Amino acid sequence: MKRIYWNDIKKVLKSYLIVIVPILAVGISIYSYIFNTEIEKTKEIITEEQKQKAKVINYIIEDNFQEAYENLLVIKNSNEISDYLNIKDEETLSQTEQMFLRISKSKKRFDQIRFIDTEGKEVIRVNSDNDNSYIVTKDQLQYKGDREYYKTTSELSEGKIYVSDLDLNIENEEVEIPYKPEIRIATPMYSDDNNFQGILIVNYLVQDLLNLFDDEFNKSEYNITNSFLINNEGYYLFNKDESKNFGFMFEEMKNVNISMENPNLWAEIKLKDTGLYENNEEVDYYMKVWPLKGLDDKIESDYNWVIVTKYNPNDLPIMKDSIIFGMKYEDILVLIGISILMFIIIVAKYYSKKDKALLNLTERIAEHTSDAVIVTDSYTNIIYVNKSFEEATGYMKEEVLGLKTSYFKSNKQSKEFYHDMWKNLNTKGHWQGELWDKKKGGSLYPKKLSIFEVKNEYNKKIVNYMGIFTDLTKTKKKEEYVVKLQNYNFETNLPNENLLEILIDNNIKVKKDNLFIIYFYIENYNSIVLKKKEDGQAVVNNLIQRIKGTLHEEDFIAQISKNNFVVGVSSLDSKNKFEDFIQKFFEVNKESIYVNEEEVFYDIKAGISIYPKDGTNSGELISNAYLAMEKVIGLKEKKYLFYEDDFKNAIKKEIEMDLLLRKAIVNNELDVYYQPQIKIEEEDIVGAEALIRWNNSELGNVSPVVFIPLAEKTGQIIEIGYWLIEKIFKDYSFIKEELSNDFRISINVSPLQFNDKNLLEKFKELGEKYNVNFNNFEIEITESVLMTDINIVNEYLKKFKELGMTVAIDDFGTGFSSLSYLKNLNVDKLKIDRSFIKDYPEKDSGEIAQVITNMANKLKLKVITEGAETKDQIKYLESIGCDLIQGYYYSRPLEKEDFYKYLRNSYSTKERDSTVGIKNKKS
Ligand code: C2E
Ligand code: CA
Ligand code: CA
Repeated sequence: MKRIYWNDIKKVLKSYLIVIVPILAVGISIYSYIFNTEIEKTKEIITEEQKQKAKVINYIIEDNFQEAYENLLVIKNSNEISDYLNIKDEETLSQTEQMFLRISKSKKRFDQIRFIDTEGKEVIRVNSDNDNSYIVTKDQLQYKGDREYYKTTSELSEGKIYVSDLDLNIENEEVEIPYKPEIRIATPMYSDDNNFQGILIVNYLVQDLLNLFDDEFNKSEYNITNSFLINNEGYYLFNKDESKNFGFMFEEMKNVNISMENPNLWAEIKLKDTGLYENNEEVDYYMKVWPLKGLDDKIESDYNWVIVTKYNPNDLPIMKDSIIFGMKYEDILVLIGISILMFIIIVAKYYSKKDKALLNLTERIAEHTSDAVIVTDSYTNIIYVNKSFEEATGYMKEEVLGLKTSYFKSNKQSKEFYHDMWKNLNTKGHWQGELWDKKKGGSLYPKKLSIFEVKNEYNKKIVNYMGIFTDLTKTKKKEEYVVKLQNYNFETNLPNENLLEILIDNNIKVKKDNLFIIYFYIENYNSIVLKKKEDGQAVVNNLIQRIKGTLHEEDFIAQISKNNFVVGVSSLDSKNKFEDFIQKFFEVNKESIYVNEEEVFYDIKAGISIYPKDGTNSGELISNAYLAMEKVIGLKEKKYLFYEDDFKNAIKKEIEMDLLLRKAIVNNELDVYYQPQIKIEEEDIVGAEALIRWNNSELGNVSPVVFIPLAEKTGQIIEIGYWLIEKIFKDYSFIKEELSNDFRISINVSPLQFNDKNLLEKFKELGEKYNVNFNNFEIEITESVLMTDINIVNEYLKKFKELGMTVAIDDFGTGFSSLSYLKNLNVDKLKIDRSFIKDYPEKDSGEIAQVITNMANKLKLKVITEGAETKDQIKYLESIGCDLIQGYYYSRPLEKEDFYKYLRNSYSTKERDSTVGIKNKKS
């Protein structure tokens, strides 16, 4: 062991202090900054929560007073009391008593209902005790002419009201136990000839209101807040500590008042309507509420209460952690850890700087670094290498000791390079740079090298050179990788949009015309059969291979996003040749792909732009090809489309239509028609499909085929859908009674609507509002809804079914859904698309309709065919077992009133003569 000198210790300590003191100072101040902002944030969140709750309570309070007033009105406007006021005989008196009794029984919140005459004497009084209402006998009626409420109310004009402060009921001069918090509402009563007849007064119980207060504020996420309701004199109406409530009712509690308990807070409340009062011990949020605000045309009053919520900032959860010197215990440990680590580093540094006498120590440290270390004598003969050197170069220590460092030279650097290196080393004592050297076996590798001179402390002569280097191979790889990431798609290894632009622009530079850009989209592949995410990737990879097979070397393919790709074709010199190419392109993509032995179908839609006609740079070409693709996606029968300048106009028109559609609901331009669904055999109407209509003053009648896809694209469909459900429910409520229990009105739900999480809630909410029997409703979804995650979809469908609705699959047969999985889905009905019947019998044998019907029958699903127009078609459909029809043959979609008529007519026809049909009622 070497001796440790006092001098060394002093030096180490000095450098340690120089480093560690500023680090600690900066660290601690950053720490306390973060800590304090965290506290401030928590405080803000709590305060915000209190504010929101106060608002809710405010609303409930106003609502309660409004309700009390409305209940008073019911009595005031009754025939009984009006008869009594005008006739005043035994009979009308008794009727009025009975009416008071009835109301008291039905409205539990009336504690008393009284009528007091012009003399101030009670004439009728109904009490309610423990849920038992009774008429007070005549001999118990009292004189009340001296009461405040009587005097004030009798001076009011017709229609005005008096509302007392909230206090507790008093029975026989004593506060009734348990407390009965109540307010009194009174109004003067006049006979028809406008003579004052007395006052009507009710005692209204408000315990419910106070309970609500408790509920609302006790739900806090932070269990540290306390809240009060205070009247305008500072007395508690609500306090968790119940013994403090209603101090003004009791002589000995006159001091239980917030103005005594917290004079500073009270002084502030007096000055402002809402605010935050803060000191070291508490944070209070207060908000004044005016319970009578909603009644301000009936009563002049600025009677107010105050909601106060309070907490002690020292109780915040964050303050509860163990704290020393304003810091959390664990954080102090971390700081101590850092200090010790710094100490070790500085000791190590200190010793590693010491000269040759300490080489042993250097070696020991070197053994453990991941950098390669090489030490030579002053003639560059190697005298030491470490483990990392062996790993980096492949040479063992024994092989290189004694060799000169020039042995590893790669010849990649010039003579000047080495010249500069030595010059630097000799003048400054060190050198650093990147260079290539040879490994064992001859392979070259890049490295970052630092060389230091080691001099003798006394005579300043060089004794050693020390080189430290890292192998840069990995870093270089990383750099290449980053470039790759910028330009290539990670999963498919195809160029991304970035590189695509470069490729197109480069092509334009060398090619004068006929560069074809195909922007395409993979549509609808039935991911249902794909079990893992990788399977989806397998589909895409397969498809890319197919497409690559059609390309020449000069052509390229890039991937823009998961299902969007661009192909650039520069190998062809005319549009004719390109037309051939595109045929082939779709030909190879016609067949399905097999992944894990499951068959996957897909569809491709492509838009094409041509240089230079459709654009002179990559940006224009890509975006115009994209426009063409967008357009073709909306066309059922086409697979690709060449860009035309007209598309831009079409987009302009679409934007205009979008703006008009946004105002359609407000302007009352939307309507719903109903198309009957008929059971062939009995020609019974068994349901109807609700179909939206739009009539705009500028555009006229716009077909849903045009505006529904647009609304889907812009997201407006969500709002339109909500409107539609409400409208359908409203229409339905007029004929509800006449419908049989299995009559179904079906509602179209497009994919975007279906993915809206609130849809179900909306159905429930509106269903409740219109008192809807959900057994009378069905939703129609399209097959594309099933193309997403099938388990989630199925769960969601189940919820609709639990409400009582059924589910139909619309336009069945036009998508890719295979019948085989339908049996596991929450689906009740298939609607065979019109395309499978419309050409029967001239151009279509109707075979597909038959296949679908057979399968559906086997799976116990209902089937309905849409769009049958002729007698022949009906006969055929009946013969193959499809007994439900929705088509012009029976009826076009009907406007609401016509639909009602149709329904009633067909029902009554049936009753008269079951053989008489109801067909051909075309509107
Ligand atoms: P869809 O759901 O397939 O509706 C059936 C369409 O076929 C209706 O057209 C209907 O009038 C028509 N149709 C019924 N029978 C016959 C027939 O015998 N011959 C012929 N030629 N046509 C018949 P409509 O009302 O124009 O609706 C078109 C599409 O617009 C609907 O197709 C649906 O996709 C969409 N749509 C309509 N109303 C709504 C709605 O309320 N919500 C949503 N999301 N989409 C709707
Ligand atoms: Ca439909
Ligand atoms: Ca349909």
